[in-house]
Amino acid sequence: EVRVRFAPSPTGNLHVGGARTALFNYLFARSQGGKFVLRIEDTDLERSTRKSEEAMLNDLSWLGLNWDEGPSVGGDYGPYRQSERNSLYKEYAEKLLESGAVYRCFCSNEELEQMKERAKQMQLPPVYMGKWRTASDEEIKQELAKGTPYTYRFRVPKEGNLKISDLIRGEVSWSLDTLGDFVIMRSNGQPVYNFCVTVDDTTMRISHVIRAEEHLPNTLRQALIYKALGFSMPSFAHVSLILAPDRSKLSKRHGATSVGQFREMGYLPQAMVNYLALLGWGDGTENEFFTIDQLVEKFSISRVNRSGAIFDSTKLRWMNGQHLRALPPEELLKIFGDRWKCTSVLLESEGIFIQEHDYRHCTLIVTAQIYMQDATELLKDGVDLITEADTALSNLLSYPLYTTLSSEECKPIVQDKLSEVAASLISAYDGGELPAALEEGHAGWQKWVKGFGKLLKRKGKSLFMPLRVLLTGKLHGPDMGGSILLIYKAGLRGVVNPEAG
Ligand code: GLU
Repeated sequence: EVRVRFAPSPTGNLHVGGARTALFNYLFARSQGGKFVLRIEDTDLERSTRKSEEAMLNDLSWLGLNWDEGPSVGGDYGPYRQSERNSLYKEYAEKLLESGAVYRCFCSNEELEQMKERAKQMQLPPVYMGKWRTASDEEIKQELAKGTPYTYRFRVPKEGNLKISDLIRGEVSWSLDTLGDFVIMRSNGQPVYNFCVTVDDTTMRISHVIRAEEHLPNTLRQALIYKALGFSMPSFAHVSLILAPDRSKLSKRHGATSVGQFREMGYLPQAMVNYLALLGWGDGTENEFFTIDQLVEKFSISRVNRSGAIFDSTKLRWMNGQHLRALPPEELLKIFGDRWKCTSVLLESEGIFIQEHDYRHCTLIVTAQIYMQDATELLKDGVDLITEADTALSNLLSYPLYTTLSSEECKPIVQDKLSEVAASLISAYDGGELPAALEEGHAGWQKWVKGFGKLLKRKGKSLFMPLRVLLTGKLHGPDMGGSILLIYKAGLRGVVNPEAG
């Protein structure tokens, strides 16, 4: 049975690297009909916090990476926090002591420091050189009688190689002579990280360990512990690092790196998941747009790349726009509508709606379902992040005609007898033809604009540019018919007459 795990240390936020590891585990489990286990690695008691754990679980849930076993859902192989598994570690440490795979080391910290110094001077690797590896029973008894504190130290073979076959990197081998005997249990009884992981992966019956490449040195130690305990090893797949565009290790100075930050910025979980999957994986075609179900269907470890993947935030943003526009209309409406409901109040308090017209009543109108539907349809193409929906709407409803007219860009339009178009427009509005046309919606608008063009003997750009400026107060924007209908629906009936401001 395939059983994989994601094993975060709750010492901060969930970063894109961790999220990708979780995703690959999740996809592998789901594609193989296996189980996805979540284990909290909180052996570092000083740095681990419950708050961080909760935030990580929250981020994983937001991404939709639901776990089958772990905190808050339980399971047959719990507890799922390392801090709650101490008796188990103790039990296995004793087994290793009995078999002679580990020994008690009574060296004090000072002694260890001195050894390190000596090794340095002799230009030797900093391996344990103390006497307890070969101490006699008599010597050990004496120290025990004195109550000298001791650690459990792993007896690493002095020479030879250790090989594992990694599902992504192929054969990985280490020579053992530079490793040195390492501690698996501290003198205060606290088990050491690599030891816990080995015991956990075995007792939780993990079949595949998929994790970041930076854990390879741990794999060596863990492999030795597996052997000593007589456990069979899981299969390993070490995923390459995520790099910044300059190929350095991705870090805070490159911008947002935590899942929570992206959520705040207006990203969709499905776009995050899609993009993270592409960091080191592809289905072998040009296709880059995948839903999570498609990823489950297509994912395979054999297609995971061994070289580092570049994190390209521009592409992620683009991808978010793709996913946003692929949402069913009612879902997109809900997302935009929720933002507009709260931001229209906010915008109003910032005075954005109160420029040349009194736009205060927008607050009420924006919450009207019909209005939001039209606005969503009109504005979605210009929006990549959920948060951009706010400015898209306020841009549409603010009417900075005077700013536009005085801009350099508008000069040709002003010179193009703008006043002639304005005069006809005002008379069309005051005469009631334009409002009547707008009452009939898009078809009404189209009919009217055609007639208006004929009247002025204008078409194309020379018709639409001055019209856009006069009707929307701007030089650019979404489809003009849609825009003016929305503005009209918003109750801004004075818009065609700049004097009315
Ligand atoms: N707790 C480790 C980390 O947060 C994961 C170790 C593992 O996957 O074996 O990086």
